[in-house]
Amino acid sequence: MTVLIAGGGIAGLTMALTCHEIGAPAVVLESVRELAPLGVGINLQPNAIRELFDLGFEDDLDAIGIEAREWALVGRSGNDVWSEPRGREAGYRWPQYSVHRGELQMLLYRAVVDRMGPDAVRTAHRVVGYTSLDDRVVAHVDTRDGAHIDVEGDILIAADGLHSAVRQQMHPDQPPPQWGGQVLWRGATPGIPIRSGASFTLVGSMDQRFVHYPISAVDPQTGLQLQNWIAELTFDTADGAPSSDWNAQVDIDKFLPAFADWNFDWLDIPALVEGAPAVWEFPMVDRDPVDRWVDGRVCLVGDAAHVMYPVGSNGASQAIVDARVMGAKLRSHGLCEAALSAFERDLLEDMSALVLRNRGHGPVGILGLVDERCGGIFDNIDDVIPRAEVEAYMANYKAAAGFAIEALNAAPPTIDLG
Ligand SMILES: Cc1cc2nc3c(=O)[nH]c(=O)nc-3n(C[C@H](O)[C@H](O)[C@H](O)COP(=O)(O)OP(=O)(O)OC[C@H]3O[C@@H](n4cnc5c(N)ncnc54)[C@H](O)[C@@H]3O)c2cc1C
Repeated sequence: MTVLIAGGGIAGLTMALTCHEIGAPAVVLESVRELAPLGVGINLQPNAIRELFDLGFEDDLDAIGIEAREWALVGRSGNDVWSEPRGREAGYRWPQYSVHRGELQMLLYRAVVDRMGPDAVRTAHRVVGYTSLDDRVVAHVDTRDGAHIDVEGDILIAADGLHSAVRQQMHPDQPPPQWGGQVLWRGATPGIPIRSGASFTLVGSMDQRFVHYPISAVDPQTGLQLQNWIAELTFDTADGAPSSDWNAQVDIDKFLPAFADWNFDWLDIPALVEGAPAVWEFPMVDRDPVDRWVDGRVCLVGDAAHVMYPVGSNGASQAIVDARVMGAKLRSHGLCEAALSAFERDLLEDMSALVLRNRGHGPVGILGLVDERCGGIFDNIDDVIPRAEVEAYMANYKAAAGFAIEALNAAPPTIDLG
């Protein structure tokens, strides 16, 4: 028997590698016909990097990203609201990485195939439902050639993302994804290094902002590095959200006019946007937390369990951590319901709170305080918000998201094979 994993994204592939590490047979059922390096940049917090190092990827991450060294909030006038070191420079034992999401997925995929064999990932297998029995679980699968097949295993881990079919069966009355009015446009442009050359910067206010961070080292030939960026505008929710399809490509005219004068001496936003070979649109959506992730021998992980607003760089990080925590539970309880319940007990309450915290804009909420106090325009930030207030705000967020420095540095490995 085996662990069935629905979805070969970040959570599903990390789950497969973790199963392999603990000696549990696993197979990934992935809906797309062929995995491809889709998406743009994501940030991986030190709690997730620690798990990737434990899975043997310490030497691979520089090829798909760059160690992040700084995290900064910048007001609409281009002045710093807050800046703090990140990763090892902040005192973590592990770095924070800014990476290309699709390249990370392909790195994990190649490792699954190398370590577990080519049959470990069955592409063109869309999980459409499940039946949980006393002694096994059956995943109901549609294949791309039109067949409906049943695949049996000990347990089913649902890592099938925002539009999870497994979650839909578990919670048939759940509302559609919740949209608060923000739309994100994402792209990546080769450009000169900005600030430290490894800085995450978020410029603007609560209803209009621009996020930027590099996802490659500087090319010694050109002096350029790949600059990931996200432009965000806020709309009236009554107008309805655009489709939540990660692959929706759009024209820059849809949003660039709103940023036409966002050119600071250190960051030329219109030039970055205009230089991108492609731009993708995505509404900032999450889902209301649910009261359970487990139904018999089935459990949700990653975005399927707790998709959240991408304001704290923890969607992909938590997907990785979920897979590792689940691995630890499978190791101590076996491939059974008790392991799934133990996973849910450890994480459901905290992650549900984090979803709601991110809906309240997570660490970006500091910009909301600045907006309230001075309309976002200031000369000296200390006159607007005391440093100690921001420090406390940030420390609370890191603790809630599982990457408080001291706690993470002191924590034993999630999976310790001795
Ligand atoms: C194509 C794509 C591009 C993305 N781009 C970005 C980005 O640029 N920036 C960002 O912040 N986040 C992006 N994300 C989301 C980000 O990867 C996740 O928020 C985070 O990594 C959590 O990962 P996950 O594995 O839970 O979900 P995902 O990474 O979304 O993975 C879910 C996987 O399940 C598969 N799947 C879906 N339904 C089924 C089904 N019924 N049966 C079997 N398989 C199924 C999907 O094809 C996908 O491979 C993207 C996701 C996708 C799928």
